[in-house]
Amino acid sequence: MSKLEIHQVPLLRDNYAYLIREPETAATGVVDPSVAGPVFEALAEHGWTLTHILNTHHHWDHTGGNLELKAASGATIVGPAADRDRIPGIDVAVDDGETYRFGAAEAKVTFIPGHTRGHIAFWFEESAALFCGDTLFALGCGRLFEGTPEQMWSSLCKLRALPDETRVYCGHEYTQDNARFALAVDPENADLIARAAAVDRTRAAGLPTVPSTMGEERATNPFLRADEPALGAAMGLDAADPVAVFAETRRRKDVF
Ligand code: FE
Ligand code: ZN
Repeated sequence: MSKLEIHQVPLLRDNYAYLIREPETAATGVVDPSVAGPVFEALAEHGWTLTHILNTHHHWDHTGGNLELKAASGATIVGPAADRDRIPGIDVAVDDGETYRFGAAEAKVTFIPGHTRGHIAFWFEESAALFCGDTLFALGCGRLFEGTPEQMWSSLCKLRALPDETRVYCGHEYTQDNARFALAVDPENADLIARAAAVDRTRAAGLPTVPSTMGEERATNPFLRADEPALGAAMGLDAADPVAVFAETRRRKDVF
């Protein structure tokens, strides 16, 4: 097993793609390329040749660069089986519980519907790296475009079970806005207060707040804390029903 080198590629206004490089075999992938141009530039900067494209879900801002990158490199496109009809150029469809071999590394595939009905995450356990697209964000979660609160809560619970040190490579830089909302619903959370201040400093310095770690998210992300009595109480809800707390948290964020 081999650890990945990971290079973050900012795209469009607030999207992140990630170049991942497995050094033993030189397998080189890009996760969720919305456009091809900056990915080509990042590859050239490192002197790397693209061999794989990994997609977490079908949205254009995660797959828009697929065909151009594939045409130029012959890269293999790996995406969610449930969404094989909506992933441009897909070659390999992967499903829940599968392990996808990436050079000498392994990605565990988890089905996490809610944002879209076919969304998956890739977890490289040896590298402590999770690519979770638009399901879990730093201090937030994706909108429920195609799923129910029950589905999204269950998907987030799967991700939340990963080890504390897992780095959360999500699809967008939304953290500062998410922090303002998190403080509005969970104002007494000392870890959250400290993290929100750190996020402000990081953004003021023009730096990314992604990746975070799963340990940080578990302590401060309100969408992972729907079964935390303190959050339910702060929102005036019954914490005995985490799905209802989650649904209300997501609803409030939609109109925040
Ligand atoms: Fe997105
Ligand atoms: Zn999306």
